[in-house]
Amino acid sequence: MRAVRLTQVGKPLENADVPVPEIGPTEVLIRVASAGICHSDAHYRAGISKIDRLPLTLGHEVAGRVEEVGSDVTHLSAGDRVCVHYLVHCGSCEFCVRGLEQFCRSGQMIGKHRDGGYAEFIKVPGANAFPLPDEIPFEAGAIMMCSSATALHALNKARFKAGESIAIFGFGGLGFSALQLARAFDCGDVYVVEINPAKLASAANMGAIAIHARTEDPVEQIKKATAGRGVDVALELIGSAKTMRQAVICLGALGRAALVGLTAESISIFPYAELVNKEAEIIGVSDHLASELPLLIEFARSGKLRFPPETLCVVDLDGAQINAALDALQDSIDHVRTVIVPKA
Ligand SMILES: [Zn+2]
Ligand SMILES: [Zn+2]
Repeated sequence: MRAVRLTQVGKPLENADVPVPEIGPTEVLIRVASAGICHSDAHYRAGISKIDRLPLTLGHEVAGRVEEVGSDVTHLSAGDRVCVHYLVHCGSCEFCVRGLEQFCRSGQMIGKHRDGGYAEFIKVPGANAFPLPDEIPFEAGAIMMCSSATALHALNKARFKAGESIAIFGFGGLGFSALQLARAFDCGDVYVVEINPAKLASAANMGAIAIHARTEDPVEQIKKATAGRGVDVALELIGSAKTMRQAVICLGALGRAALVGLTAESISIFPYAELVNKEAEIIGVSDHLASELPLLIEFARSGKLRFPPETLCVVDLDGAQINAALDALQDSIDHVRTVIVPKA
């Protein structure tokens, strides 16, 4: 089968011809219909995130049709539409038994620790394949399994409830999903903080209150808009110390700031005024859980989470096209996500 693989860190991905994977009794073989191209993949290619073994087929955002089912897999049949949960876990360690598989002692990420979806076929444990309703296009089914799933996890970690107000710092792929998911939860006012006018305009079109961070301090703007109260929940999706601090100090009483972005910088907080007195909370967010995916899939099935055609760009399963898409990710400023749709 055709696959597009990382053979050397820092070098372009290469077209390869590899055997179709053989599945064991607990696994399924999926014919890939769509695979999302993600910022993480650019980091693997560049060597910013370490890969243990090469060559490796990248691609952790995958949807397709079941081609073959292992004898122990009972919830799927050949021909079923599925999307893939990218964390392969043991199911029996102290974290897995509590449903916290992102901390699994022997967890593996598809497309990083084992071959991913930049290929005609992928094998995954049956437990990682979730039925994909007909209403959800394969392209959406693929890309929602990364940024949308993590945005939902952030809302869950922040214990976000109907009627609550929320500030979303950063309106890239995560923010685009977070806004739609917050609305699916029947949120109160949503503030989207950005410096990019086009992104602010699209957030406003989707019902958010646009906060341009360059015109005036965004925390002041949020305080004014909330009559001094601050917001119930803030999501930091950018990964900068500055916006992390803003996400914390824009909170009102009992507010929760969920930090999703990555940074090596430290942040400073004045404990009494900014945290203790408000009983505010700062919460770290990493990946997402299998148990969250059925609700995510239902939001997408019912149209509450959408990726309109103008937000998608399609390429073939081809090294040159995928490398170009990864290059373009470095300086992307819009919402367009690129997905691989292998030509027959
Ligand atoms: Zn991803
Ligand atoms: Zn485990």
